[in-house]
Amino acid sequence: MRDLRECQFASDNTAGISSEAIEAIIEANTGCSRSYGEDWWTAKAADSIREFFETDCEVFFVFNGTAANSLALSSLCRSYQSILCHQLAHIETDECGGPEFFTHGTKILTVDGENGKVNTEKLEHLITRRNDVHYPRPKVVSVTQPTEVGTVYTPDELEAVGELSKKYGLFVHMDGARFANALAALTLSPAELSWKRGVDVLCLGGTKNGMPAGEAVVFFNKQLAEDFDYRCKQVGQLASKMRFFAAPWYKMLKSGSFVSNAMHANRCAGILQQRIGEIKQITRVFPCEANAVLLSMPESFSSELQGMGWEYYEFFVTGYSRFMCSWNTEVKDIDLLINDMKGIGG
Ligand SMILES: *Cc1c(COP(=O)(O)O)cnc(C)c1O
Repeated sequence: MRDLRECQFASDNTAGISSEAIEAIIEANTGCSRSYGEDWWTAKAADSIREFFETDCEVFFVFNGTAANSLALSSLCRSYQSILCHQLAHIETDECGGPEFFTHGTKILTVDGENGKVNTEKLEHLITRRNDVHYPRPKVVSVTQPTEVGTVYTPDELEAVGELSKKYGLFVHMDGARFANALAALTLSPAELSWKRGVDVLCLGGTKNGMPAGEAVVFFNKQLAEDFDYRCKQVGQLASKMRFFAAPWYKMLKSGSFVSNAMHANRCAGILQQRIGEIKQITRVFPCEANAVLLSMPESFSSELQGMGWEYYEFFVTGYSRFMCSWNTEVKDIDLLINDMKGIGG
C-alpha cells in the first residue's frame, strides 16, 4: 500500500485515528449496549466533558463539524435574524450554506479583522447600524478558536466579544473544531477559554485531534439546548451505535491525550514555521499560534512543490497556502518538506 505522506500537511483530518481512540472503540465493543446515546460510554463521555469544563453543561455528539455548527446555530436564532462572524469563518466559506439551510435562512453577516479575528469595533457597527425591519436582526456572534488562519483569540479578546454580545443581547457561538489546539497554545483551563468568557455554545472538535469522527456540541447556556436531541435526530445526526463515537472522547479526556495530541501538533507547526525562514522565496503571513502555518509563495514555487507531490490547502479568499500539522506529524517529515523546498529554484 502506498504511504501517502505527501498529503499530511493538507489538513489535520488527513491524519489517521490515534491508537488510543482505536483502543477505546475496541474496549466499547464488548457485548451489547443501549443504542442512541443511552449507553454507559456516552454518559461517561458527557460527564468527562462536564468535568473538563468544570461546569454542568449539556453535551451532544454529532458526526462532523458542519452539522455541529449548523445545528448549534439553528438553536440560537430564528430565520429573520442574523449570525455575525469573520469573513474567513468556516461557517461562511466552507459549509456549503449548512448554517443557512439548518436555520431556515438566517443570514450570515461578515466582518473583517486582523489575523482572522473579528474586529470588535466593526462588529459593534454591524450590530447597531440599523434596527429597522428591513435588516436581518443580529442575534449570534460566532468566533472560531483557533481561527481559520491559525491564530488564537486571547482570553481578553474573547471577553471583549462576549461583553459586546451580552450588551446587545446576542449569543456567542464558538467553532472549536480545533479548540484543543487553542488550549494547548494558551495553557489555560478549558473554562477560561469558553463559558467564563461568555461563550454560550461550543462546537468541540474531536476528528482533527485523533478521533475517527465526532464533534461534541457543548451548551454552557443550558436553556439553549432545549429539544436539541430532536434536531440531531431529525437531520440524521443521532448515531444508533453512539458508544463507538463516545468512547474515544471518554478515553482521550481521561488520559489527557486530548490536549497532549494538540500540543504535539502545535509544536510541529512551530518547528515548521521556524524552518520556513530558511526558504527565501516564502513569506510567513500570520503568526503561528496553533497548528497551522500560513505562507505566501510565488506561483512557480508553488507549482513545483506540488509537482513533487506535496499537497496543501490553497486558501482561496486570501491566496495563501496553509500547511497543517496534526497529532501524528513527525519532525522527519518536516525535514523532507523543507529539503524539497530548498531544492526549488536555488
Ligand atoms: C474542519 C473544520 C470544521 C468541521 O468540518 P467538517 O468537515 O464538517 O467536520 C469546522 N470548523 C472549522 C474551523 C474547521 O476547520
